Amino acid sequence: MTDHDLPVIAHWFDGAAAPSASGRTAPVHNPATGAVRAHVALADQADITAALASAGRGFAAWSAFSIAKRQSVLFAFRELLNARKGELARIITAEHGKVVSDAMGEIARGQEVVELACGFPHLIKGAFSENASNGVDVYSLKQPLGIVGIISPFNFPAMVPMWFFPIALAAGNAVIVKPSEKDPSASLWLAQLWKEAGLPDGAFTVLQGDKVAVDGLLHADEVQSISFVGSTPIAQYIYETASKNGKRVQALGGAKNHMLVLPDADLDLVADQAVNAGFGAAGERCMAVSVVLAVEPVADELIAKVTERIAKLRIGDGAADAEPDMGPLISAAHRDKVSSYVDIAEADGARIVVDGRGYTVDGYEDGFFFGPTLLDEVPTSSRAYTEEIFGPVLSVVRVRTYDEGLALINSGDFGNGTAIFTNDGGAARRFQNEVQVGMIGINVPIPVPVAYHSFGGWKKSLFGDAKAYGVHGFDFFTREKAVTSRWLDPAAHGGINLGFPQN
Ligand code: NAD
Repeated sequence: MTDHDLPVIAHWFDGAAAPSASGRTAPVHNPATGAVRAHVALADQADITAALASAGRGFAAWSAFSIAKRQSVLFAFRELLNARKGELARIITAEHGKVVSDAMGEIARGQEVVELACGFPHLIKGAFSENASNGVDVYSLKQPLGIVGIISPFNFPAMVPMWFFPIALAAGNAVIVKPSEKDPSASLWLAQLWKEAGLPDGAFTVLQGDKVAVDGLLHADEVQSISFVGSTPIAQYIYETASKNGKRVQALGGAKNHMLVLPDADLDLVADQAVNAGFGAAGERCMAVSVVLAVEPVADELIAKVTERIAKLRIGDGAADAEPDMGPLISAAHRDKVSSYVDIAEADGARIVVDGRGYTVDGYEDGFFFGPTLLDEVPTSSRAYTEEIFGPVLSVVRVRTYDEGLALINSGDFGNGTAIFTNDGGAARRFQNEVQVGMIGINVPIPVPVAYHSFGGWKKSLFGDAKAYGVHGFDFFTREKAVTSRWLDPAAHGGINLGFPQN
């Protein structure tokens, strides 16, 4: 098959796949084989205009649905997703590379938000104060914003959009999803599922593309809010540009998550969790553990245990029948970038305990594989320590005390997730209080909050003040009106009074 015969992954406008007007495309790879499997449309202004029109029609139809009817569509979507999630998992693996069971895990975490959203009437019902003043009632209404934009990263092509769109739709908004151009197909599968669930056409619109599509959404007056997840420099750009254009914005950025291991911790548990959280999804998770802070004297023993476990990891095609533990990275360019961070660490004096550079898998020589890598004594001045690597590279930094470890975590740019491993409840409690990070695990390595709490980091891991999902999600996707009402009753009518209303 030549490149020209490959399918073009389209937009989704008015409830159907819509070819692009732009003629611009980008290749979409299967990262395990390195082969181009399709091309994705990259929007230009005509596509952006069409997406806005589609979402406008969708909003008019969907916002007129009663709460009960909206709820039945959400329940139908949940049932369809639950029954057919295996199809979605295979699509994710084919374009992202993560193993199928991990793709199923990503869907399960997204489905949690769908299930939360099914109970939305309780969360958008507002409040009522009877007789706030004589004969005056005050109440609040929570109304949808209108058209909302969701811009997602490559690493969770289903879960991250699902952090936002179930709640946005439950609240009566129309969504435009701009997926990552690296793995765009999951969004179209989800769009088709919404159609089958009974969502009016246009209420779930997909705009494929790159910076041009993103900028189109950031500058469109019709778009009321932006929910972004991706790297920190882009998150900051999105936050600044969308805010300047008067939009509500939540922009989640990158991470550098530390695991603090106290000397009393169970080192077998720690080694298991460090390997799971460091190398799962090939380290391409914003909540991956990338630094183990070992409070001495545990480092040598812990490194031995982690090394033993790394030796047993199976790396390969995530879609293979005999499922490996870890798949490839997303692209050749990203693999080379990850590799360059190991070079930097080495040049800066780190000790390479396990080297994943140049890793190949038999029969998949063109795949974007990178082996699990363990670094010891990584200098905290090295860019390999300060910057996000986003690959299967676990760095050990040795510290002498809890305070030294805590100070390192708090001195970093990011504040997404962290974990402490200890059997000392007092130390754990102190840590949760003192650490400057948004999501904390106590003997839990990847503390992604459940759907009814909210997801979001501190510092350069989240721009804006609204986290994803939970109550924050419902606040973000609704706009409140406060109504002060008096039904005229001649006895309560105060006559003319130019003073400021008081109780
Ligand atoms: P990315 O920032 O490169 O891309 C994210 C989105 O922004 C994509 O849809 C992309 O098309 C768009 N984009 C890219 N460059 C742009 C530009 N110059 N202008 C406008 N839009 C642009 O991120 P990625 O590589 O897809 O994802 C990995 C990053 O996402 C990592 O940094 C990871 O930590 C982060 N992430 C964070 C969280 C979180 O919850 N904080 C969750 C998942 C991923």
